[in-house]
Amino acid sequence: MVSINPESTETFGFQLGQKLNGGDIVALHGDLGSGKTVLARGIARGLGVTEPVASPTYTIVQEYTGRQWALYHIDMYRIDTVEAAEAFGLEYYLSDQSAIVVVEWAERIAPLLADENVIRVYLSHVEQDVRKIEMVTIPASGAE
Ligand code: ADP
Ligand code: MG
Repeated sequence: MVSINPESTETFGFQLGQKLNGGDIVALHGDLGSGKTVLARGIARGLGVTEPVASPTYTIVQEYTGRQWALYHIDMYRIDTVEAAEAFGLEYYLSDQSAIVVVEWAERIAPLLADENVIRVYLSHVEQDVRKIEMVTIPASGAE
């Protein structure tokens, strides 16, 4: 889809968030300013999170409580190797079946998400307020 302002990106996230269930992982890909945090905020709202939602750039992970599920909002900006992500304990969050995980800068830990049943979202900057958003969902069992 093409998003023409931050609000439409947040609405896209909201609608996605409403459909998510515990154990779901959403991997957000895209450069700085492409709208990953805006989209993550929408997902949080869709899950019933009412607190402010910002990039957990320094804390790496921020946990929220939604209506039915917890949400782990993870930012891999400062964790740029698979080893560092493992040391940080990423697996713990990814394996929590009572929470949704949203990962910003997912491209940085692609090998760790390769085997997971992940909803992949690619955001890119088109111009000023315009962003392209592409969503790819890979089925649990894969194409075997
Ligand atoms: P990221 O987390 O990818 O670095 P942010 O979501 O923090 O990006 O920031 C996106 C910035 O771009 C915000 O300042 C937002 O207001 C602005 N913006 C402009 N147009 C859009 C759009 N269509 N979708 C999302 N953000 C947009
Ligand atoms: Mg961000």
